[in-house]
Amino acid sequence: MSETIFDKILSGEIPCYKVFEDEHVFAFLDIGPLSVGHTLVIPKERKAFLHELSDESAAAIGRVLPRIARAVMKASGAVDYNILQNNGARAHQVVMHVHFHIIPKIAKAGLGIGWNPGQLTSEAATGILERMHSALEEG
Ligand code: 5GP
Repeated sequence: MSETIFDKILSGEIPCYKVFEDEHVFAFLDIGPLSVGHTLVIPKERKAFLHELSDESAAAIGRVLPRIARAVMKASGAVDYNILQNNGARAHQVVMHVHFHIIPKIAKAGLGIGWNPGQLTSEAATGILERMHSALEEG
């Protein structure tokens, strides 16, 4: 995949407000925050989609995400928050480098969500489950 603005942030070519860094993970304040403390957590590995990440990067993010979320909540004073992780342009991903948004929900500031639920039928569940289970077996 091609270079994105986040590679430039990782290399220091573009400045950012750094929140956290370890061997595999980097976190910094979002330049267009939805609320105070809105933070982006990214793997140093250059991948566009979550499912493309190596186990090593995935585990490294899983290990630190709750810790960074605790710091964001403590610093912002928020109690509620959303973790948002977009994959693909149709799913609102703009920067094609995996990233997790940590977005404090403070009064009206934060993430707004349009949610139009359907109704799960046993027919639909059976069909999709069969395909998911074979996909899981394939790895
Ligand atoms: P996406 O829509 O891809 O999930 O979100 C990308 C996020 O990256 C946006 O919230 C946007 O504000 C943030 N962003 C884009 N460019 C920069 C930048 O140069 N610096 C920082 N700190 N954030 C950026």
